[in-house]
Formats: sequence, structure tokens, C-alpha cells
Amino acid sequence: MPQPPILKIHEIFSSLQGEGLRQGAPTIFIRLSGCNLRCEFCDTRDAWEEGKGKSACQIIEQVKLLHADMPTPWICLTGGEPLLQDVGVLLIGLKEAGFMIQIETNATQPPVSHADWHTVSPKPPAYRIHPGWPSLASELKLVISKDLTAERVIRLTEAFSPETPLVLQPQSNQKWSLQKGLQLLHEVLKTGKPDVRLALQMHKIIHIP
Ligand code: SF4
Repeated sequence: MPQPPILKIHEIFSSLQGEGLRQGAPTIFIRLSGCNLRCEFCDTRDAWEEGKGKSACQIIEQVKLLHADMPTPWICLTGGEPLLQDVGVLLIGLKEAGFMIQIETNATQPPVSHADWHTVSPKPPAYRIHPGWPSLASELKLVISKDLTAERVIRLTEAFSPETPLVLQPQSNQKWSLQKGLQLLHEVLKTGKPDVRLALQMHKIIHIP
């Protein structure tokens, strides 16, 4: 019988979701190691490293221990880029255990099934999006980097359903990025997109993981 894959994990912890439309919701995070991109604004560079090997069973056991202390139904798979690894067995196990699953992805890899919330966050310079994501995205989240232009934001939103919420996220809550985000928000609103918002990284403001 084939052995389930060993996943490289950077950390597993409970906190509040600090970003996007699920902001403020108690969540258990599984941060997988490795990323295929090297964004200059990356704030999870430690997760580029190798990480520690764990089976899906070991990860779920650790999640259950955290859940005993913070009984939230929500798990977030993040990274790094979580979909560089074979997370299928883990997702099935988490669903069987009754959890709801959010995936935060840079969208370069094909989608996987079994998730309940898909945070699609393409990154510069190419903003590459696998064609499976636009119909699945629960939210499109863009970091307001120095290079992000209104034209780029509008072109990206056009790849998704008009109803897909757009979250503009200032780079590390910096003032220049926040001001730029306000301008971008107005530009996108003018195109008639109904759901556009600016959202700071809450966890960095209230100093939680
Ligand atoms: S895609 Fe995400 S994890 Fe990867 S380098 Fe960019 S910001 Fe960091």
C-alpha cells in the first residue's frame, strides 16, 4: 500500500486570521515550507526553508491539541506556497475531522478540492494565475507593492467573476502603501466593481502571530 506523503511544515499555531475577508476569525494555521516565488516584500521568508517532515496524521493530531485550547472550526493552509506539496491526504483528514479549510495561495499551482475558502493572491512581477483559480476564488487579495499599478489591478480583477471580492492589502501596513491603496481603490471603483476594500494586516497591529 502506498505511504501517504510526508509534508514539510514550518509551523502550526492558533491565532486570529489577520488578513482578507476572514479577518478576525479564530483560526488554526498550518504553514507549509517552500515557495516557488521570491517576492521582495515577503514577510514569511523563514518558510522558504526546508521545514520539518510530518505525516498528515501527525499534523492533524497537533491541530486537535490546538483546537482543544481554541475550539474554532477553521484551519488555514498557508506558506510559503502550500500547494507545492501534495496536501490531498491532509485535506481529506481535516474534513473528516470536521474542520473548515481556508487555502492561501499565490495561485501558480493547480487548485485542490476539499477547501471551503480560497484566498487567491497572485504575486509580481508576472502575477501568474493557474486557469483553475478564477472560478473558485472566494477573494482576490493583492499586496500593494511599489510596482502595482491601477492597470494591473483592473486587468487582474477582469480575470475573475465581477462578484469576487477584491482585497487591497497595504505592504506591511506601511503608510506609502496605504495611501497608494486608497488611490487604487478609487480607480477600481470607477470600473464598476462592486466589492473592493482596503484591509490592513490586523495581526501586525495587535501583535499576535
Ligand atoms: S508567494 Fe508569498 S510566501 Fe512566496 S515569496 Fe511571495 S509573499 Fe513570500
